[in-house]
Formats: sequence, structure tokens, C-alpha cells
Amino acid sequence: MAHFYFAILCLLFFVVDGLGAERSSEIKVLDEHRMYHLGTEGFPEWDEFKDKKPHGRRVDVKFKAAKNKLPQMILLRQRQVKVRWPVLLNQKRIGYLAAEDPALWHSVKVPAGALLEGENTLSIVSPKTTDDIEVGDFQLTRLSNLDQVLSAGLEVTVSDAAGPVPSRITIVDEAGTRSLVWPSLPQQKLAYRSGVIYTSTGKALFKVLPGRYTLYASRGFEYSMKKINLEVNGNAIRKVQLKIRREVPTPGLVSVDSHIHTLTRSGHGDCSEEERMHTIAGEGIELAIATDHNHHADYLPVQKNTGTTSFFTSVIGNEVTTETGHFNAFPILPDSSVPDYKLGDWTKLMASIRATPGVRVIVLNHPRNIHSKFSPMSADNFNHATGQNLYGAPYSFDAMEVVTSAAMQSDIMSLYRDWFAMLNWGHKVAAVGSSDTHDVSRFILGQARTYVECPDGNPSRVDVAKACDSFRKMRAYVSMGLLVKMKVNGKFKSGDVAKGKGDLKVKVDVLGPSWVRADQVSLFANGQLIRSMNISPSDKIEKASVSWVLPRQNYDMHLVAMATGPGITEPFWESPRPYQQTSTEHVPKVQGATNPVFIDGDNDGRYTPPRLQAEKLLKQHAGSLKAVFSALESKDQAVATQVAHLLHASGHNLRSKSLTEYYQKNPAIKAGFEALVKTLGK
Ligand SMILES: [Zn+2]
Ligand SMILES: [Zn+2]
Repeated sequence: MAHFYFAILCLLFFVVDGLGAERSSEIKVLDEHRMYHLGTEGFPEWDEFKDKKPHGRRVDVKFKAAKNKLPQMILLRQRQVKVRWPVLLNQKRIGYLAAEDPALWHSVKVPAGALLEGENTLSIVSPKTTDDIEVGDFQLTRLSNLDQVLSAGLEVTVSDAAGPVPSRITIVDEAGTRSLVWPSLPQQKLAYRSGVIYTSTGKALFKVLPGRYTLYASRGFEYSMKKINLEVNGNAIRKVQLKIRREVPTPGLVSVDSHIHTLTRSGHGDCSEEERMHTIAGEGIELAIATDHNHHADYLPVQKNTGTTSFFTSVIGNEVTTETGHFNAFPILPDSSVPDYKLGDWTKLMASIRATPGVRVIVLNHPRNIHSKFSPMSADNFNHATGQNLYGAPYSFDAMEVVTSAAMQSDIMSLYRDWFAMLNWGHKVAAVGSSDTHDVSRFILGQARTYVECPDGNPSRVDVAKACDSFRKMRAYVSMGLLVKMKVNGKFKSGDVAKGKGDLKVKVDVLGPSWVRADQVSLFANGQLIRSMNISPSDKIEKASVSWVLPRQNYDMHLVAMATGPGITEPFWESPRPYQQTSTEHVPKVQGATNPVFIDGDNDGRYTPPRLQAEKLLKQHAGSLKAVFSALESKDQAVATQVAHLLHASGHNLRSKSLTEYYQKNPAIKAGFEALVKTLGK
């Protein structure tokens, strides 16, 4: 059948060949390809706009036209659009810019009769939010849809060693702007937006404007990326074969995106449930957890309809979206009722979630986001030094997102520090990464993800119970461009308690595809940076393999390894900007982190968190501050912070001269006490 369509299409191209030239002349440049920087003077959104004076909060371009009986189309280029900017023609709204950060071509339909005879005004008008954008290169075409406007055909096949493979095709023009695209045949198994096509068959037949382009083929973190330059015209369909290969070995690990939305079920974003299947297959996620807002979506029938069943295992989940935080819960048995999201009280809420049939894992989502004026990590709800939950109800979730690629932090370490504090208090919370994408390409599915220990032989039959068990037992790795693995004394991995005597041999491996660079690897003990090493950036798959020997301390601690590197700027996997920015600086980074290996330093056969160590220490030396501080000498900053908090809670004034004299002497104790004092206010 496909062959038949293809033959018809070829014929069509021959027939309309003469029309190709005529079509491009149908495009009228309105304003000499000029680009405008729009924004609010004095309030730059990002450092790159700091010394630039914006054209204004709006641009009005005047041009001559004839009254239109039929719909036409405006084409434009835009960059760094965060919110919905209205597009007006003669003061009437005819559409919006695409709310997407990367540079892209966009089209807006001109309704019949909207053009006036003679002078017309096209306007782009700022919404109320601060949003510096670039927009321009306005063009008017008398044709009314992209199917007619775009005339140069491309037939792209992306393959790996086994043949055509689900993938992402990204296509940009010579200026690096994602091009307008249109699928040449209906019923292709793909999702597309400007310059982006996700195909589950590895094939795509589509059209662009004639011109020179750069084409990228990719399949997320584990695969190589292939990039070629080419020129296409309207004369014949250009066939392109692109080879990619599996680069990052992940034996025994399953790639999970535990936070996925669709427009169909969540009501916002732009990705339909069908399109979502192609993005999951195209980014190489093996375990996809549907987490629409207070809704149980089942991808299974959609997988069948879209031919994507063999590429990944889907799980019904729910982003329980409340006024006091968002929580992902999974797996959920079909036809279960939705947990009561109106419960503000976490104890009742968690009980309601746990009572939902099937649920094994609950994740605290994007903990620093502010939604409904509430943030689980605000100073009112959480002590950033001790990890104490001030919100009242106990933390009974199993994991938290330390990176959410659609909700990035200005400081990528801030959520890791929150998590370290939680572990120090003794909360048993695993770190996870996820995308939280609602869109086909505005945020990339699986860009941040989690690798969980689980047999990975068949992506269509992932053992969901085992994967969930790994989430709960912290046998998981946070990945956004890098995968970091750690072994202590040759056998203990994330989630293990390392028992034994003698020095600790810590081996850290940093992996990533050839298109990612790593430049630093770090080791944290009880949240404190204890080792760090520069990595020379390279396109090797093994970015670093570092061995550190740590003298065994006589107290327990948790070890976490992490690696970072420069963010990706190329359009096939561009590092996203912060969501609720706290700085005008944007320093994109790739990152990877382990979950903790717990060290049984005091050899009592188990792991005791810093909070309990502090309680024990105070009990042992009750009544003598001198003895307390002397015992603290052989502990670390994390234990000192907990001791400081316990002293404060029992009525000691940490700012008093007598106490400061004690804690000023030892740098680690001083840092630990001062960290707590900072959170106390005046
Ligand atoms: Zn959310
Ligand atoms: Zn979400």
C-alpha cells in the first residue's frame, strides 16, 4: 500500500514540477527578512539581552496587500519564546507564536477577508510576562496550508545495525532555524512539529521549502547522532539514509521516564496520545509511565494502534496534582478510581494514594516548583540544612525528582542539596530524573530519565514489579546526558549498605554518547563534596573511570557520585532553560548521578543517618557541651548540623558567645552549625 502511495506522490511531483517555481514566488517577503528583539527595557530575561535595547514590547510591520477571498498564511522566524505571544493582523488576533525556546520557523493562518486592500499591519504583541524573544523574517503566502507551500520532498530512513529504527529527525536551515515541515503522506507513523519528526518506523516522507539544510538523526541518550548537510529543491524527492548506532552500554538497566503527559489526557501542552507513542519510541525509553494530572491513562491500546508495542513497556500512573504538591504514583491497575487530590493533608493524601490498587512507588515531583502558591521545598515547609519536614505530615513518598528536564532549576545543584539534607535527616528517598514533558518537542521526552536495575532483554516486556522495587531500593541512576555508576570495595552499589573494615575503594564510571562531553566528576559524603576531579572532555563513550581510596571513618555516611559537563546546544537535544528561573544566567549542563551507597563506618552492621547519630551523641554526652563538641570532632559537617538543630530545639542559643566559642574551633563543626543558623532567621 505504501508503495502505491509513493508512486502516486512521485507522479504528483512530476505533474506539478512547473508549479514549484511558481509556488516559491507566491511567498512575499514583508520586511526585508528583518529580525526584532522584543522585551521590556530594563528587565532582561537572560544575560544575553542585558546590554541590548529591545525594539519594544511589540513590533508593527506595515505592508501592502490585496483583499483575500481565501485563507492565506504568514511565515515567520522566532527564537526563545516562552509564553503565548499573540499575532495580530490589522489589530485582530489571528494566532500565536509557538511557545518554544529553540529557533524555529512558524506559520500562522490568515483567515479569508482578514487582509485589507492596500496597507495592512502585522503585529506581534507582548503578553504581561517578562519574555525576551526574537521574531521576524515575516513572509506572506497566498497559499493557505503548508502542504501547498512546501514543495521539496525528502525521504529519510534512519537505521541502526538491525535496520530502520524509531528515531528523531531534526532539520534546520542555514541559520540554524528549525524548518517548516509537512508529512507528504497521511498515515505515516510519526509526530512532527517545526523541524522535528519522530518516526516509529525509522522512515519519514516529508516536505520542506527548497533550500540548504542540516539534518540530524538521533535516538536519545544511548544512541549516536548522525548529522549531514544537504540541499533540496522541488524537482525530485531526495532520498537520505542515516545510520546511527547504540553507543552507551546499559546492561541490566532499564531507561525510565516516570513523568509523561499528553494533551489528550492532561488538557494542556501539544502532544496527542498517539504522537506521544512516537516520541517515547524515538527517544529510546523502555519503561514509559503515563502520569497525567489526576487521570489514569493506559497507553496499551494506543501502542497497538500506533505500532509501537514492541519498543517499550507502558505503565498506568497518575500525577496526583494537589494544592500542596504534585506526586507521581505508579503502577495503577486498570479501572482503579483516582486518589482524592483535594486532600491537602499529606498523611491523608499519601494514604489515599497508597490505597489505589497497584501503587508501589510515589515520587515527589519538581519539589522546588511553586504551584498554587505552594512549594514543598520552601523555607516554611522544609529546613534546607537539616532536611526536616516542617510541613507537618511525615514524608512517606519513595523518591523525589532531583532533575526534571521540563522544570529545570537555575542552579542544578539546589535539588541535589535538598535531597542530601533529606537523606541526612534519615528520610529514605531515592533520587530520580524525568522529563515532565507535555509536548512533542518543546521539552524532549526522556531527556532527563532514570536507569533502574532490571532485566533489559526485551523492552516490550519490562518486569514492572522489579523496576518498581529498584526505585524503592534506590537501585537507580539519574541521567540527563550522562550515566554515572559507582562501586564501593568492588561489590557495593547504589542502595547497598557497605559493611566491612579497612579503607573504602570507590570506583566511579562516567558514561555518555559521543555527542556529550563531561568535564567534572564529584563524590559527596553525607552531602558534602569530598572528592572532585576534572575530566578532559572527549567524544569517548567512557568519559571517565576514577578510583578513589577513602580512609574509613568511624561513623556512617552515604556516598553519592555525580558528573557534569557543558549543556547541548545543537537542536536535536538542546539543553532546556530553567522553568521558574531564579537568575538571568543560563548555564546549561548535562548531568548524571548515582543513588547513595550507605557506608557502615561504625561497624555495627547497619547504616545510621546523621540525624540519629546526632541524637545518640547528645544522649551519650548529656549535660556536657564540652564532651559533645569533643565527640563531634571525629564526625562531619552533616552530623554537626543535626547536633546544632537538636541543641537549638532544646533551648540553646546558637548565637550566644559561649556556644559560638565551641563551634568556631573546628572548620567542619563551624560550617555545620552556621548552615543551621542561616535557616533560623533573626
Ligand atoms: Zn507537576
Ligand atoms: Zn507533570
